[in-house]
Amino acid sequence: AESPRTNFIRQIIEADLASGKHKRIATRFPPEPNGYLHIGHAKSIVLNFGLAQDLGGTCNLRFDDTNPHKENVEFVEAIKADVRWLGFDWDDRLYFASDYFEQLYDFAVELIKKGLAYVCELSADEMRAYRGTLTESGKDSPYRNRSVEENLDLFARMRAGEFPDGSRTLRARIDMASPNINMRDPVLYRIKHGVVHHQTGTAWCLYPTYDYTHPISDALEGITHSLCTLEFEDHRPLYDWYVDKVSVPSKPRQIEFSRLNLEYTVMSKRRLTDLVSESHVQGWDDPRMPTIAGLRRRGYTPASIREFCYRIGITKSENMVEMAMLESAIRDDLDAHAPRRMAVLRPLKVVLTNYPEGQVEEVEARNHPKDESMGLRRLPFSRELYMDRSDFEEVPPKGFKRLIPGGEVRLRNAYVIRCDEVIKDAAGEVVELRASVDMETLGKNPEGRKVKGVIHWVSAQHGVSAEVRLYDRLFQVATPGAGGADYRDDINPGSLEALTHCVLEPALASAQAGERFQFEREGYFVVDPDAMPERPVFNLTVGLRDTWGK
Ligand code: ATP
Ligand code: MG
Ligand code: MG
Repeated sequence: AESPRTNFIRQIIEADLASGKHKRIATRFPPEPNGYLHIGHAKSIVLNFGLAQDLGGTCNLRFDDTNPHKENVEFVEAIKADVRWLGFDWDDRLYFASDYFEQLYDFAVELIKKGLAYVCELSADEMRAYRGTLTESGKDSPYRNRSVEENLDLFARMRAGEFPDGSRTLRARIDMASPNINMRDPVLYRIKHGVVHHQTGTAWCLYPTYDYTHPISDALEGITHSLCTLEFEDHRPLYDWYVDKVSVPSKPRQIEFSRLNLEYTVMSKRRLTDLVSESHVQGWDDPRMPTIAGLRRRGYTPASIREFCYRIGITKSENMVEMAMLESAIRDDLDAHAPRRMAVLRPLKVVLTNYPEGQVEEVEARNHPKDESMGLRRLPFSRELYMDRSDFEEVPPKGFKRLIPGGEVRLRNAYVIRCDEVIKDAAGEVVELRASVDMETLGKNPEGRKVKGVIHWVSAQHGVSAEVRLYDRLFQVATPGAGGADYRDDINPGSLEALTHCVLEPALASAQAGERFQFEREGYFVVDPDAMPERPVFNLTVGLRDTWGK
């Protein structure tokens, strides 16, 4: 069950509601449509939409689309689908920062008129040099003291397209000596010709910066609490400055929390984009990706991702979360809800020499050991079966409890068998076992001896042939690219193992893409969208127990 937990942001908001500062809270989730959402975004989605839901407020979905080069409509649509899939709804509260371009322009004019913004002609390099450093104050731009009239005229001409890219910017006139570098006359507008924006087309050759756009968008939408990650803490004075200086209708409060970092993966959109474009993975929804689309295809449920987000909590301290945390959230969900099935991933044929040829009987199996309401199914049992290769050892290691020459094992939900003969090919490879079945052992223990091992099996004649894709961590090290190395060098070359000759119990033939099961003794699996009617394809979601660090 999901368990929303309290955190310092929730406490601030509850106090604001209790004191009457706000009657109703408004949050927003502001993705940039320059990639697919990842598990880090889920943390922000669950926080923003979750707080609104729990505390009777609203949460807007706002595309932060001020950077047209890398943004597109495919990403807009994928983000919407992922937010919905996670179980949240923005109703009619869908916004684009680009909706405000005209208003943002007017507010910039207002700042110019107040003497609080100016058109600067320093190049990017010069501007950097003038900005100073942490230990050294900045220097005023030579263009800082232009008259309001001149600034208004130049800004209008910037908009009209009279000047080339990089030749002019509009800057806030704040304080070049501020100890906070973000306050040293930050840029509000840049010139970008020749780009087609996915929402505004070619209407603009002037694009506002994130730092200028974000607070104003929040204020225009009446956002009460603007929740963002810690790297924006130093930008808060600037956020507040913009909200103070222009005539916006409300005053939102920015609160920062630490971003999610997860071991054995990467989360920056640049790196995720590279993984896709350089074909290290098969797409944004590759089951090895930490994207929401990848996790969905991997078999994660929305509830498990929400629960993970609650378990990691919201704080201000940077830390690294173990992959085992994410996996235990889905394992707990699937343990409770996934029907059990038998699937032989590495088949080894067993012929039951004393079982009549042509005879087929049906044995009953429970769909869930702890949940009787999930019912029973019938499994065909016949003379030729498949068992997993790893459940037989000719020379067993100490403590091996499965099948050995001359030994006995129970076939799950069916009989006890004894291995009488091992058939090998010319290369000495075991290709078949001959065994005898003890017909007195269906649902009861054999007389006078103990049989400890239980293995899974599928009737050879009834089994469904399938592909099963086993996934391992995408990176070999916990923090890829640590110490300035290329994170690509840390990619795990064995992160995908496709088993193409698996045999599944017949009930799995009709499983639909997205259906999840436990393959007994193997792990949790989901039907991949690549599955065809006669050819199921399954993805390993997670193993039965935590194997991280082993
Ligand atoms: P990147 O830096 O990789 O481009 P981003 O933070 O710019 O990512 P956005 O699309 O702007 O990506 O993010 C939308 C929202 O999701 C932001 O409010 C951001 O703070 C939040 N977010 C992004 N990554 C994480 C993360 N790892 N943990 C928590 N929140 C995150
Ligand atoms: Mg970004
Ligand atoms: Mg961003």
